[in-house]
Amino acid sequence: MTDVTETVANWARSITYTVKEFHRPRSVGALRAVVAGSSKVRVLGSGHSFNRIADPGEEGVLVSIAGLPPVIDVDTAARTVRVSGGVRYAELAQAVHDRGLALPNMASLPHISVAGSVATGTHGSGVGNAPLAVAVREVELLTADGSTVSIGRGDARFDGAVTSLGALGVVTALTLDLEPAYEVEQYVFTELPLEGLDFEAVAGAAYSVSLFTDWRRPGFRQVWVKRRTDQPAVDFPWAEPATEALHPVPGMPAANCTRQSGVPGPWHERLPHFRAEFTPSSGEEIQSEYLLPRASAPAALHAVDAVRETVAGVLQTCEVRTIAADAQWLSPAHARDSVALHFTWVRDESAVLPAVRRLEEALAPFDPRPHWGKVFGIPAADLRDRYARLADFRALARALDPAGTFTNGFVRDLFGE
Ligand SMILES: Cc1cc2nc3c(=O)[nH]c(=O)nc-3n(C[C@H](O)[C@H](O)[C@H](O)COP(=O)(O)OP(=O)(O)OC[C@H]3O[C@@H](n4cnc5c(N)ncnc54)[C@H](O)[C@@H]3O)c2cc1C
Repeated sequence: MTDVTETVANWARSITYTVKEFHRPRSVGALRAVVAGSSKVRVLGSGHSFNRIADPGEEGVLVSIAGLPPVIDVDTAARTVRVSGGVRYAELAQAVHDRGLALPNMASLPHISVAGSVATGTHGSGVGNAPLAVAVREVELLTADGSTVSIGRGDARFDGAVTSLGALGVVTALTLDLEPAYEVEQYVFTELPLEGLDFEAVAGAAYSVSLFTDWRRPGFRQVWVKRRTDQPAVDFPWAEPATEALHPVPGMPAANCTRQSGVPGPWHERLPHFRAEFTPSSGEEIQSEYLLPRASAPAALHAVDAVRETVAGVLQTCEVRTIAADAQWLSPAHARDSVALHFTWVRDESAVLPAVRRLEEALAPFDPRPHWGKVFGIPAADLRDRYARLADFRALARALDPAGTFTNGFVRDLFGE
């Protein structure tokens, strides 16, 4: 067991966690010993969140599970995979693909851990694609008293147990549903006007559609369209095809991105925008994202356009995606088909926060639910009303973790404690 105290930062180096101790156990036994000996614990996945959601606080212990032996057990007959929580989607996807199977969707990058991603409601895009947590059929938790609890689909607690913000215990493993492997073609189009935008048609033009803009002028600089080859051909009359491969962040190399120009390829090499072997996005960044009812998309996009100048000054790129409703109590897409407005900002918090506030004022009429892993300023008191099952989640957290070992400042704020 390692038992070191060191400075621990998130992937973007925009957050330094306040910790009493940082541990990176090499076995589940060592992990259990760390948890049993600590009164405040938070787990670190791959550290790709941009706020203090993973921060245990000054008296707390941060446990990275990246050093645990990776487990990826594919059951081809059942079409499931049991995966340890710290495994990243890149390794999981390759192993699953090698067995002729696939996940239904992926986020923009494959570098993120499975447990950490589903804990925050991480999603890709597609009007028919719910967040990544939708593939989970069972969660295995190590709770504060050292016991192991499995919660599967059909259990009354299940809809609280996957998108759990890390507040229930250590997710040691998850079992996910798979489907037969499929191929995807990725097309990029440029300069889609905002005026007259038929958002439903554009967002529904293929399996997964993302719109990108820098908000320096109205409209969208790029549209990324991902078509499953077992689905109808893409008809995209609203914008011109790109003449070269592009990166969604202006000035960044397209070589870091997955193959474009409609060349078919395996699902896991087209659904993420960024290739596993390269730094995703820009690296020097802060991110924010808000999920709103999908029907509000046109009005919300015009509301952002109205504050475009404030936003554009500190923005690297903005991505607009769609997400189908899911059932997880704390999912930002809970019970509502959503449009997600994502902002990759420059990595300068003092310059970015005023733009975040202005943006949140503009989006307030649309009842936005922020991505749990990104920067937001909406007070927790306002968010409570947006999660009808929050009381059920709090009760589940208290039942599994009566002493609040896995509750940190972020979660306490949300609970109103
Ligand atoms: C470049 C970039 C691109 C991104 N693209 C997308 C995107 O396309 N879509 C999207 O929705 N989000 C996206 N994100 C956000 C990202 O998916 C989330 O922040 C996600 O939570 C990252 O997973 P992680 O393992 O790094 O989590 P961490 O930041 O390590 O942790 C997040 C939360 O999960 C908890 N946690 C982690 N592992 C465990 C565990 N084993 N048991 C219990 N709790 C645990 C932590 O305590 C914390 O509360 C992006 C982030 C970056 C940096």
